[in-house]
Amino acid sequence: MSELRKEYERFQEAKRQWLEKRLPHTYFQDQESRYVHPFQIFGNVWYVGDSWVCVHLIDTGDGLLLLDGGNIGATAMLVNAIWEAGFKPSDVRWMVLSHGHLDHIGAATFFRRMFGTEIYMGEPDALSFQYHPELSLVHEAGSLAHDVFEVDHRITDGETIRFGNTEILFYLTPGHTEGVISAFFDATDGKRTVRAGYFGGFGFNTMRKDFLLDIGDTEFRTRQVYLDSLAKVRNQKVELFLGNHCGNNHTLEKAEMLRAGCKDNPFIDSTEWGCFLDKKRDEMLLLMADPEQN
Ligand SMILES: [Zn+2]
Repeated sequence: MSELRKEYERFQEAKRQWLEKRLPHTYFQDQESRYVHPFQIFGNVWYVGDSWVCVHLIDTGDGLLLLDGGNIGATAMLVNAIWEAGFKPSDVRWMVLSHGHLDHIGAATFFRRMFGTEIYMGEPDALSFQYHPELSLVHEAGSLAHDVFEVDHRITDGETIRFGNTEILFYLTPGHTEGVISAFFDATDGKRTVRAGYFGGFGFNTMRKDFLLDIGDTEFRTRQVYLDSLAKVRNQKVELFLGNHCGNNHTLEKAEMLRAGCKDNPFIDSTEWGCFLDKKRDEMLLLMADPEQN
């Protein structure tokens, strides 16, 4: 066996062992099996994400906006989904990242370099990329092709930004990460306009005991920050709840209903947002009361 071949195999084995120790799931393998045929959710809002991580495309009439950047390693799938939906990836002028974790920032660098797409992210996560890049968890992908990056615009709390014909109101809703953004905007099909709402990170994985101790939050303050964030946007008017991960709003089940010709659009429901945020609040209170988590 050549030295080059031996070196290659040593590298692969070390990588395999390291990943096996770290990875709770195989999120970054066989991503193609998670491909979802893109579909129109309502009017100018399309779904171009996979079966785990949501990505939404908003046609602003003057360029496309992607809400979130997809999983690390899934960029080709995202590009394909945009074409399949009938749009051109090179028309993506803006990408707004829900938060700075590896499963939501995958395509950012590619779109920025390839198409000049401007990258937007909550200011605290942009700073975190600078000072605590380890919190992005990019190392968990075990890929040398991905790393953190500088964003073009740091979103601040309460900021309103106009993208083409769409004005988006942003709030910082920290907890899952410090820079989770939530976004609210009018979606339209030309006849009807509904208020869309998006909460950029619900997961408890970064609020469990071991994780918080590891980052130095020995009093578990982050959990109360998360509860405050839920309360902060709980009473926003939301008729179209967009998920951050598919499980948030049953994205795929609703897609199936749309495909089956369901008369009323299952994505439009003025109670779902509040119910889901209340459910996450209750689940967090349970976690906070769990002796094993304290
Ligand atoms: Zn996350």
